[in-house]
Amino acid sequence: MSEVPEDELFDVIVIGGGPIGLFAVYYAGFRDLKVKLLEATETLGGQVSLLYPDKFIYDMPGFMSVNGKEMISNLVAQASQFNPTICLGERVLLSWSGTMFEYLMPALWMRSYPGTLIARTQDAVVYVQRAFGRSLGIPWGISESASSKKNDRGDYHYFAYGLPSVSLWPEAAAGPVISPYSTFLALAVDPPQALRNLRYMDSEGWVGPYGFYEAADYSVSSRKPVMVREWMAHHLGMSLLAIANSLRNNVVQQWFHAHPMIQATEMLLQEIPVNNAVLNARLKNLAPIHFPAKVNLLEVSRGATAAL
Ligand SMILES: Cc1cc2nc3c(=O)[nH]c(=O)nc-3n(C[C@H](O)[C@H](O)[C@H](O)COP(=O)(O)OP(=O)(O)OC[C@H]3O[C@@H](n4cnc5c(N)ncnc54)[C@H](O)[C@@H]3O)c2cc1C
Repeated sequence: MSEVPEDELFDVIVIGGGPIGLFAVYYAGFRDLKVKLLEATETLGGQVSLLYPDKFIYDMPGFMSVNGKEMISNLVAQASQFNPTICLGERVLLSWSGTMFEYLMPALWMRSYPGTLIARTQDAVVYVQRAFGRSLGIPWGISESASSKKNDRGDYHYFAYGLPSVSLWPEAAAGPVISPYSTFLALAVDPPQALRNLRYMDSEGWVGPYGFYEAADYSVSSRKPVMVREWMAHHLGMSLLAIANSLRNNVVQQWFHAHPMIQATEMLLQEIPVNNAVLNARLKNLAPIHFPAKVNLLEVSRGATAAL
């Protein structure tokens, strides 16, 4: 893989933002180490915040006569003075097969608004896709595409590759088969990372006479992918629209939203949950994002995610 930028490297990754995780962040910061904290839920404080925020703490060293909430807010304040990168869990709507296409194809022509369930899902999915690629040490971007398998006629096999962690389909499989058009779609969500990914693919020779090849199939070898040397019109078409949006101030979205029928209904896209409780209730059966099991020091940095 290409070199990881300095601001994405950490000395220490702490997993879990309970009291002990917060202590760890504090002591690592105190030793001038660059720290990142990953917490699977949307709040810091672990069992204390979750189960007994108002109960008085009886035997936590250094804390007497404080309730759980006060203790955690003290620990967070102490840990924060060293500016750790804190990544809180997000929740994401599930799609059927966990493809990038299902999440981001609509973004080619439909606007999304910050803080909405749709926008948060799009952000989270790109994050999960990046983390998945990073955990395997390969580029990211998985969606339905051709793979290197061929039938008797020599046609490439086509399959809805997706991430099982965000898929409702029990047979979802990632391949891993990396399709460059998935990264073009992600230009709408994270342009710097998408460009970096595309540049890497370009540097590895993933481009032919008609543009980026359909895919790179890592299911055969995790080190040297088999290139799927074909071009599919619908994938190139989506890539072109994504480029147009990126370079021309979301021009495709502007066309779509200029239509009176869309203007009459676009408030549906602006839906913001009334309050946290409602959103949490609605999200209960949807997928929490789990950080990849193999978190390494090159893990991507997303920065703090605002809790709801
Ligand atoms: C009802 C109750 C009352 C208690 N009262 C007291 C008391 O008065 N005094 C006292 O000293 N102790 C008390 N305890 C015990 C105390 O709460 C625990 O000892 C303390 O919370 C342990 O802290 P921790 O950070 O190790 O783990 P936790 O508080 O369990 O935090 C772990 C965190 O890690 C996160 N996490 C787990 N897996 C992952 C993953 N793979 N990736 C990212 N994040 C992950 C979890 O979401 C969680 O936020 C009480 C416990 C209970 C249940």
